[in-house]
Amino acid sequence: MPGIYLHIPFCRQKCRYCDFTSFPNRLNFAEAYMACLFKELELRGKELGDVCFDTVYFGGGTPSVIDPDYIYGAMKQIKKCFRLSKDPEITIEMNPGTVNEKKIAIYKRAGINRFSVGLQTAIDSQLEELGRIHNVRDYLYCTSLLKGENFSADVMLGLKGQTKEDLRKTIAIAAGSGASHISMYALTPEDGTPIYTDYLNGELPDGDEVRELYDYACQLLRKEGYERYEVSNFAREGFRSRHNLNYWRRGEYIGVGVSASSFFFGRRFTNTFDLDEYMKCILSGFLPVVENEKVEGKDAKSEFVMLALRTSDGISAARYREAFGSDWKSDFAVPYAKNRAYFEEDGDRTKFLDEYLYVQNRILMDFIGE
Ligand code: SF4
Repeated sequence: MPGIYLHIPFCRQKCRYCDFTSFPNRLNFAEAYMACLFKELELRGKELGDVCFDTVYFGGGTPSVIDPDYIYGAMKQIKKCFRLSKDPEITIEMNPGTVNEKKIAIYKRAGINRFSVGLQTAIDSQLEELGRIHNVRDYLYCTSLLKGENFSADVMLGLKGQTKEDLRKTIAIAAGSGASHISMYALTPEDGTPIYTDYLNGELPDGDEVRELYDYACQLLRKEGYERYEVSNFAREGFRSRHNLNYWRRGEYIGVGVSASSFFFGRRFTNTFDLDEYMKCILSGFLPVVENEKVEGKDAKSEFVMLALRTSDGISAARYREAFGSDWKSDFAVPYAKNRAYFEEDGDRTKFLDEYLYVQNRILMDFIGE
């Protein structure tokens, strides 16, 4: 079932590695921005009011940095403008340096039932080096407020000087705090971010070192009872993220807010990345879409295959046939034959052998534009 994504683009300060659409100096625009976001929800709701949505996700930026009443208001607006399933999954991303008891109480009252908390690392000096505004104690305080709730912890790999022992401590703290889900992403040094200079100076771990950290972390997570269900996502039984699973199944979703992207009716479209332009457009009654592309034919099939193969469930021949009316192994006969040794078959499913899930990008290149 489709999902709704809301982008909250404010942060207290810019992390040194951040390439997301976030504006650390414009928190004073939160009220005006949220008024526009409510308006966009109304406009989108008019188009999609009949569709039933199963997930809502507040991402950013830092959704937890703004007044929690705006989040409450956004949920009220969603319920007014859209049809939600009986038991929707509603997630909010939180920076541990911005959370208190009152905020969590308001989120829960708004219907939020899943929390995604940015731990990143349990080594304070590394958090400082990354430009994060929180320390490990903030994370522990934040998660103590989430006792008994469904929450995920974010962990980063490939940090300057990061050792296996640092990672062991980080995973122990994330697991010990009660996280039902852990997302673990390798730091990507994007050109234009301050951390890119560290990368050019050779101060970050290289690809082989990150791979070693990843493999080590996977072992630890398995021992702690987290199952890898996507290359970067691990969950206790019954706690996979429904919102993200929908992306990997090439399900439809609507993105609301500056820079948010959507996939609906076979089209991928994206809102402007410019905060002022976003607000101007909405205030003039227009949707602020800057890119809009119909994805069909081979491109749609490639997307389906590449997204499905990111997951440990792999690609289902039946689901592919249902979507496209053909057999995926015939449609991709050449790349499939070339890479067959990397896959295993499990009933109607084809998936990467465990050891190749992490290095899949190189293999998947063969499936693009086939
Ligand atoms: S908190 Fe997240 S969005 Fe904000 S600056 Fe840091 S990495 Fe970027």
